[in-house]
Amino acid sequence: MRQATGYFTHKDCWRHEMGAGHPECPERLSAIEDRLLISGLDVALERREATPASLADLELAHDRMHLAALRGLSDNLRDEIAAGGPSHAQVDPDTAINTHSWDAILVAAGAAIDATDAVLAGELANAFCAVRPPGHHATRQQAMGFCFVNNVAVAARYALERHGLKRVAIIDFDVHHGNGTEDIVAGDDRILMCSFYQHPFYPPCEHSTAANLVNIPVPAYTKGMDIRELIDVMWLPRLDAHKPELIFISAGFDAHREDDMAQLGLVEQDYAWMTSRIKEVAQRHAQGRIVSCLEGGYALSALARSVEAHLRVLADV
Ligand SMILES: [Zn+2]
Repeated sequence: MRQATGYFTHKDCWRHEMGAGHPECPERLSAIEDRLLISGLDVALERREATPASLADLELAHDRMHLAALRGLSDNLRDEIAAGGPSHAQVDPDTAINTHSWDAILVAAGAAIDATDAVLAGELANAFCAVRPPGHHATRQQAMGFCFVNNVAVAARYALERHGLKRVAIIDFDVHHGNGTEDIVAGDDRILMCSFYQHPFYPPCEHSTAANLVNIPVPAYTKGMDIRELIDVMWLPRLDAHKPELIFISAGFDAHREDDMAQLGLVEQDYAWMTSRIKEVAQRHAQGRIVSCLEGGYALSALARSVEAHLRVLADV
């Protein structure tokens, strides 16, 4: 029987929200789900409910103190609300938690771990995790940029440490630089990280020059055709040389031309093209195994259409 594409999510991912009008909102997931229903793509996917990650697994990518601080912030918020305080606690000017955020953080990372287990067990061909909060800005010890725990970095380390894989790849096509993933994986030669991102842009960090990172900074207004050429020249030879046994995708869709969070010019066909290229690499080296996790994407219609394009390639429908 042909293996299906898994679709991992959890209702707690809807309950985390960061205040009225915040672009990283629960409606993002609803827009994706609506699109899957309308397009009929939902029937081609194997839907699974994510389970919470353990602290021991989160510590594969994060300092214990960072996790304890997040947990403490969440507990503290409950006490403050009971005493008549505000409904959110700010982590940075863009990033806040409510009383459901800790649970959402655990199932978002848990989805990536569960997807890794299922794909490596051969139960699924590949998988997409429709989760929030996103993760790629979360460093080993800091929450920032809408992110608290680095879902993809946790799952990549999990695949290496718990499943004994020797080499994995992380591909980050979010419009923002995955500074958190870079912080966690730079210098870990078991992990090849390939990304492009608008530069200069958020976050304003220095980029590592570690040999296991293939960073492609591109200026605002770069279009899909130029990105495709850069990917063919810069990512693919490195991916083929690395021979990853499993490929993770930090799947942000905010480089879409309709997404005014940033100024790149990608469209749905570009996401389909990138997914095809990644799938070919996975077929050459990784028995087709891909675990993709939602990162950014804030223009709801463009996000939903782009996720559909991504999933159609993953599911081959
Ligand atoms: Zn982003």
